[in-house]
Amino acid sequence: MAKTTPRLFVDQKLEAKAEVTLAPEQSHYLANVLRLQPGDAASVFNGADGEWLAHLAEAGKKKVVLRLEQLTSAAKPPPDIDYLFAPLKHARLDYLVQKATELGARRLRPVMTARTIAERVNLERMRANVIEAAEQCNLVFVPEVLEPISLNAALQGWDAGRALIYCDETAEIGDPLKALSKVTAPAAIVVGPEGGFTIEERAMLKALPFVTAVSLGPRIMRADTAAVAILSVVQAAIGDWR
Ligand code: SAM
Repeated sequence: MAKTTPRLFVDQKLEAKAEVTLAPEQSHYLANVLRLQPGDAASVFNGADGEWLAHLAEAGKKKVVLRLEQLTSAAKPPPDIDYLFAPLKHARLDYLVQKATELGARRLRPVMTARTIAERVNLERMRANVIEAAEQCNLVFVPEVLEPISLNAALQGWDAGRALIYCDETAEIGDPLKALSKVTAPAAIVVGPEGGFTIEERAMLKALPFVTAVSLGPRIMRADTAAVAILSVVQAAIGDWR
């Protein structure tokens, strides 16, 4: 039976002839689960240096060492579109982070709004979900997960050269692709919490010159559903789906 060529994220510099020692759980997976032997192939990526074909130099039960042979795919970043979102509770946040990664968000930024339900954000869990999505979906680029920030602070320090697409369920229903016709990357998207933005937050967003409010139709979606909807519309309108 043909051996699986595993695809692994490694948080180490990748270059030709480099030797990469895998973490214990990855070593266990290759040596004990897949039963790979020295000379067998694996593929590694780190989100920045592209994807590399490697071969096992050592295959100990607790320590596997890979030697990198050749670059198989360059790390081409997706369009410069950040995804800002009010953190959700566990399973829905896991889903949101995985889908935003698959849909090509360049960076993920948790934004604390007045009605955000999650008091603290588990960045390690978010980063693990980003990596899981990248490993499973053959992604070579891995979005950065940024530290949480309050909505006010994010807007006060905003780089006006980056358009902000505000998902506004109270906006007049209209063609979102048309609403985005004057927007170009670098851009960012912001989606509210399950309880929505407050009246004050909506007024603050709509008063900003770099903000474009977009309606996603007549039905109110849950925040994780809205993530998939708006990222699809934005990739189609200004991203790399064209
Ligand atoms: N305020 C909503 C309500 O009255 O039930 C709850 C907010 S909704 C669950 C979470 C977020 O998803 C919203 O803040 C908005 O950013 C986005 N969203 C959901 N449906 C939307 C729509 N139809 N158009 C634009 N944004 C939407």
